[in-house]
Amino acid sequence: MNLHEYQGKELLTRFGIPVQRGLVATTVDEAVAAFQKLQSETGTQFAVVKAQIHAGGRGKGGGIKLAKNLEEVKQYAGSILGMMLKTPQTPGGLEGPGKLVQKVYIAEDSYAPDFNACKEYYFSILTDRASQKNVIIYSAQGGMDIEKVAEETPHLVFKEFVDPALGIQDFQCRKISFNLGLDGNAFKEMNVFVKKLYTAFVQTDSALIEINPCLRTGDDRIVAVDCKFTMDDNALYRHPDIEAMRDESEEDPTEVEAKAVNLNYVNLDGNVGCMVNGAGLAMATMDIIKLSGGNPANFLDVGGTADAARVEAAFRIILKDPAVKAILVNIFGGIVRCDRVAQGIVDAYKNMGNINVPIIVRLQGTNADIAKQMIDESGLKVYSAIQLQEAADLVKKLLVA
Ligand code: GDP
Ligand code: MG
Repeated sequence: MNLHEYQGKELLTRFGIPVQRGLVATTVDEAVAAFQKLQSETGTQFAVVKAQIHAGGRGKGGGIKLAKNLEEVKQYAGSILGMMLKTPQTPGGLEGPGKLVQKVYIAEDSYAPDFNACKEYYFSILTDRASQKNVIIYSAQGGMDIEKVAEETPHLVFKEFVDPALGIQDFQCRKISFNLGLDGNAFKEMNVFVKKLYTAFVQTDSALIEINPCLRTGDDRIVAVDCKFTMDDNALYRHPDIEAMRDESEEDPTEVEAKAVNLNYVNLDGNVGCMVNGAGLAMATMDIIKLSGGNPANFLDVGGTADAARVEAAFRIILKDPAVKAILVNIFGGIVRCDRVAQGIVDAYKNMGNINVPIIVRLQGTNADIAKQMIDESGLKVYSAIQLQEAADLVKKLLVA
C-alpha cells in the first residue's frame, strides 16, 4: 500500500523528522485558507502547490508549482485540482491517460530565501534480499534527475547496509553525513535525520521510504521536502492508523475488488488470465505460460477453498481485463478435492453465461481423473489437461487459433 506525500510527512513528523510543512486541500477555497494559515504559522512568503497522487515525477509533469502570492495559489490550485496529471511514473507514462488529481498539498517554500543556497540530497531505505539486511541508498545528487544520476554516474549513489538485528549505529550515520560532504550544523542534523528515518522505516513496517529531495537549507538545516512510503501489506494489521490512510481511488480498481473478496490478485499486462491456488504454484504457472510463448495477464491466488463462489468471483475479476484471450486454471487438489473444484468451474461458467474466451483447466491431486471427466463431459468451451506442460501447450494452441 502506498501513501500520499502529505500522509507520509505526517508519519515522519511523528518520529520527529523535520518536514516541509503544509496543509492538504481539495478545493480552491480550501487551498486559499491553507495558504493563509500556513503564512501565519510559518511566516512563509511563497507556497508550493503540490498535486497529491500515488506517483513520483510530479514536478516534471507540471504537478508542482511555486506560487508567489494568493492569486497564484488560486490559479495553480485551480489548474492542478481536477487535472489528469501525466508523469513518467503514472500508468502508461507520459503517453498514458494520467492520474486524476483530487487533492493538493499547500506547502511552505523550504528553499527560501535563496534557492541557490540550498542543496538537494537523495535517500531511500528498503530491504536488500541478497544481503538479508536493510539498505540506505543515498546521494548528494538528489532531486528530479536522480534516475539519470543512477544510470549515468552510479558511483555517485552510495549504499549503507544495516543489520536488522543490530539496528543503525551512530558511526554509520556519521559516515553517511561525511560521504554527503556535510559539515557544521547540517552534519549534526543529518546524523539525527538518518537515525530517525531508519527508526521510522522499522517501526512503521515500511517496505520502502524514499525522501527526494532531502534538503539542506540556506541556513544549514535538514528538511524532508518530498516523501514516498510503501507499506508492507502483510504488516498493516499491526498499524490500523496507517491502514486508515489507504486511498482506494488511487489503486487499481480490479485489485481493490479482488481484495474485498479476499483474492490475491495482481494485474499484469499479458493476455492469459491465471487462476491458481497457492502463490508458489501461481508463480510457476506464470513461468510456464511465458515459456510457451504466452504472457500472463495477472497473478491470482484463489487460496485453499476453491469453491464455486470463489471460482466465479475469480473468473469475473480476470475477465474485467479486456486483454485476456484465454484463461488457465491450475489447481492442486490437496485439501480441496478436484471434483469439487471442477463442479465449481462448471457452475460458475453456466452462471456467468457470457464467457467467450477458452478456458484450460488443469486439476491435479485428489480425484483428478473424476474432475477431468466432469470437465470433458460438461459440453462447455472448457479444455482439460493433467500435465502442466499439456495445459501450457493448449494455451499456446488456443491463442493462435
Ligand atoms: P516530485 O517531482 O513528485 O518528486 O515532487 P517533489 O516534492 O520532489 O518536488 C519536485 C521539485 O520541486 C523539487 O526537486 C524542487 O526543485 C521543487 N520544489 C519542491 N518544493 C519546493 C519549495 O518549497 N520551494 C521551491 N522553490 N521549489 C520546490
Ligand atoms: Mg520528489
